[in-house]
Amino acid sequence: MNFLKQITASFAQPAAENPTVEMIEAAYRHHDLDWRYINFEVPPTALADAVRGARAMGFAGFNCSLPHKVEVIQHLDGLGESASIMGAVNCVVRRGDEYIGENTDGKGFLKSLEEKVNPTGKSVVLFGAGGAARAIGVEVALAGASQITVVNRSESRGQELAQLLAEKTPAKAEFVEWSGPYVIPADTDVVVNATSIGLFPDVDAQLELITESLTNRMIVADVIPNPLRTRLIHDAESKGCTVIDGLGMLVNQGVISIKYWTGSDVDPRVMRDRVIEVLGL
Ligand code: NDP
Repeated sequence: MNFLKQITASFAQPAAENPTVEMIEAAYRHHDLDWRYINFEVPPTALADAVRGARAMGFAGFNCSLPHKVEVIQHLDGLGESASIMGAVNCVVRRGDEYIGENTDGKGFLKSLEEKVNPTGKSVVLFGAGGAARAIGVEVALAGASQITVVNRSESRGQELAQLLAEKTPAKAEFVEWSGPYVIPADTDVVVNATSIGLFPDVDAQLELITESLTNRMIVADVIPNPLRTRLIHDAESKGCTVIDGLGMLVNQGVISIKYWTGSDVDPRVMRDRVIEVLGL
């Protein structure tokens, strides 16, 4: 066996406090997979060399975190469908002799959502228009959501995402400028916070929305993994909504990445438990 062929990696900057390493290694250990997942601090100026190095050493693939998610594309041999629409890659997979860029962030979110509801024909309110929102919007739209309302503070980013969804996916999409407390339309099926509001240490920060407009027919998801129970999750539960916390997306993107690299299905609970332990959630 050539040990080097079993290496997967994370190209991150900086490398500190990366729970992904811990959760992926936990899955490899739990399933006796003879693989390793190693973190490398790669500055932007060294990205091309890092990808060349991965090829030279036969890595099965690697993750990219910010600021590499867009820049890495020029060093790859092709893109998966959703990564191509998003223009961002967080997971590179060696297929034959080629390195193909995928985006497992959105796919991870979708997996969490599909555990609760079939997204086909659903109406989604998406707060945010950054990288996380883009990944979620594209993947949910490709999975059959019929309507996506992008609610964002800055008009330019919000318009851009709504336009991308409308032009590149089968979903209808519109932008609403977030300039005050937002009333969730009564026919909404899924509400997603894809902003950074509420992320530790700003745990008391609150989304500007009218809590009374949340109803028990809605699914409410937060991308914030820390804290586990954000203000939004707490408020949504108090209104009887079905909730999805931010660990769902984090863990499931790892599950999907491992499937791409190794072909193995791993137990998400092992990974979730390890993240909770590492982050002290
Ligand atoms: P970006 O910086 O690309 O986007 C941030 C978004 O949040 C923008 O839409 C921004 O609006 C909005 N925003 C930030 N602060 C405020 C505020 N005070 N009021 C209104 N809107 C605000 O970040 P990402 O999309 O990459 O990440 C967003 C969050 O998602 C992060 O907290 C990250 O931890 C989390 N995440 C979680 C993942 C998981 O697996 N659970 C995976 C990836 C990300 P504007 O455009 O107006 O600036």
